[in-house]
Amino acid sequence: MKFLDVANQGVKQLLPYQAGKPTEELERELGIHNIVKLASNENPFGLSETAKQAILKELNQLTRYPDSNGFYFKQAVANKFNLQANQITLGNGSNDLLELIAHTFASEGDEVIFSQYAFIVYPLVTQAINAKAVVVPAKNWGHDLDAFLANITDKTKLIYIANPNNPTGTFLTSAEIEAFLEKVPAHIIVVLDEAYTEFTDEQERVPSFALQKKFANLVVCRTLSKAYGLAGLRIGYAVSNPEIADLFNRVRQPFNCNSLALAAATAVIYDEEFLHKVADNNRKGMQQLVQFFEQQGLEYIPSKGNFITVDLKQPALPIYNALLHKGVIVRPIGGYGMPNHLRISIGLPEENQAFINALTEVLAN
Ligand SMILES: *Cc1c(COP(=O)(O)O)cnc(C)c1O
Repeated sequence: MKFLDVANQGVKQLLPYQAGKPTEELERELGIHNIVKLASNENPFGLSETAKQAILKELNQLTRYPDSNGFYFKQAVANKFNLQANQITLGNGSNDLLELIAHTFASEGDEVIFSQYAFIVYPLVTQAINAKAVVVPAKNWGHDLDAFLANITDKTKLIYIANPNNPTGTFLTSAEIEAFLEKVPAHIIVVLDEAYTEFTDEQERVPSFALQKKFANLVVCRTLSKAYGLAGLRIGYAVSNPEIADLFNRVRQPFNCNSLALAAATAVIYDEEFLHKVADNNRKGMQQLVQFFEQQGLEYIPSKGNFITVDLKQPALPIYNALLHKGVIVRPIGGYGMPNHLRISIGLPEENQAFINALTEVLAN
């Protein structure tokens, strides 16, 4: 007997998520120090002082279970964005929410729509529940929403949209999203995954919470992992119609967010100074990399996130490995069907420069 044979149908074909290589692992393998990691779209500044203080204060409470309802953090999110707390669902990272949404609304035989080159968690959660993935071919590396509409059937339950998208950094405007929502049947759940929204310019940002007043089937997912710098603590939030939030609340694990994450998130969500510093550094770092790519004549996909994807016009894996040996970790995205591209997260200016130097050397050889 093989345990594979008795596993759930959807799980049998599932492949594990490929995470960015941890710094410690590379240090062990190659004996290199001062490694620059630009592989997982993490915050280059480290933990904000506000988050750190909140965590230290919470340490004494760690023998207790966390607040199952995340009262204070929901309150903070509600206040910040002028929402009601009963619209908010918290997740152990927004990955947890993306999965929770699939479990709540789709099952075997249902169809889930997302784009080619979209965030890899969408196919993973779809496969895990043995639903049918409807992958819409990308247009200029981004979402082709007209093609999404053409793929809606009476089996469609769920649509995932990443805006900006990871790993391509492509972006849909407010007008494009709204025109799309107008045409989607009201019983189909549309998930707008806005993991990188804090890096976009405020004027161009999609007013997604306002759109929810008109489109009750719109679920917005956000995370504290990227701009807010809490990737290791695992916390994100979904904003939806209260009726939908009530359903999520039934399906989620009762203690899916830990006490330290709740405390840190409640503090940092109001830390506008930290957020501005992060966004400002990102803007400058993006310019630094774009300028380098243009000087080198390398083709890149214009990005609204905290990362940029470059087309090397040759297999990216050997170049990724050569960069590793120079102590720079970036992200190969062959798993996304982009074997000639590398994704580089924006770091501190000196980290970006280390990548620029390393790639220049590697390409010269
Ligand atoms: C990083 C990322 C997330 C967030 O992941 P967490 O689980 O919150 O750390 C969600 N969606 C996309 C598109 C991402 O790139």
